[in-house]
Amino acid sequence: MTQPAVPRIQLNDGFSIPQLGFGVFKVDPNETERIVSDALEVGYRHIDTARIYGNEAGVGRAVADSGLPREELFITTKLWNDDQGTQSAFDAFDASLDRLGLDYVDLYLIHWPAPANDRYVETWRAFEQIRESGRVRSIGVSNFLAPHLERLIDETGTVPAVDQIELHPQHQQPETAAFAEAHDIAIQAWGPLGQGKYPLLELPEVTDAASTHDVTPAQVVIRWHLQRGHILFPKSNRRERMAENFDVFGFELTSAEVDAITALEREVRVSSHPDEMN
Ligand code: NDP
Repeated sequence: MTQPAVPRIQLNDGFSIPQLGFGVFKVDPNETERIVSDALEVGYRHIDTARIYGNEAGVGRAVADSGLPREELFITTKLWNDDQGTQSAFDAFDASLDRLGLDYVDLYLIHWPAPANDRYVETWRAFEQIRESGRVRSIGVSNFLAPHLERLIDETGTVPAVDQIELHPQHQQPETAAFAEAHDIAIQAWGPLGQGKYPLLELPEVTDAASTHDVTPAQVVIRWHLQRGHILFPKSNRRERMAENFDVFGFELTSAEVDAITALEREVRVSSHPDEMN
């Protein structure tokens, strides 16, 4: 099978990232190697994991088993809240790299700002040093709201390459997205399918477009993200859904369809508010 060319998004530090990848939140560590191997066979080259998912080692084994050249892959992991700090961040990064079995990661993220602990600026300075060591290409953040981003930039002068935020048609975080766009920070949409927690895939704006283009509701939502410029990495344990979620480059939503889905915003959050996740 010839693989579709996944578009790449240019980052503000000169590197680029495949716009569509595969996420492994809640993927059982005992099954991660098989699931990520399936995803790589389907064609995904961008994998999003985190220390807190407990499955970095499985991701690393799947990458090693794949035999794919390292430069064809884009691997992201994240620093958990209780590892924020300077030495603790260095140690956490070393441990993640070790579990992944890699010489470098493509992207390392502060997982949550955890503002009550007030250590994200210090952590960011540690990230700058890790990047200087050459063991990570790009550094970024996750779940940062505009005030957190602003403080980071004001106090360090280093603009994150990405902000990975909860983003799906019913929770689009327009203020954060606007701040990111103004500062050339790429937006990564986590929970792009709304984690299946409410019936996003049953809304008529989505199902009507799916009928029109003879695709599935999930493919419509993924296409909406791609056309809105988001980077995304939907998760599935099932190989047929991995293939479905990757088969999104043979059709295009009209601007009216994109607008109708954008109008679904309801501020429905599937996870914690970033100010409360400490
Ligand atoms: P998603 O929005 O990707 O939804 C995943 C759910 O949708 C699963 O229950 C999956 O079920 C189901 N699903 C997948 N494909 C389809 C399909 N084609 N049709 C119907 N249902 C489908 O949620 P995630 O939270 O996993 O978000 C994606 C990634 O974002 C994560 O894996 C992780 O890498 C990242 N993330 C980051 C966070 C952060 O704080 N930075 C927080 C949460 C996620 P099944 O597996 O049974 O197919």
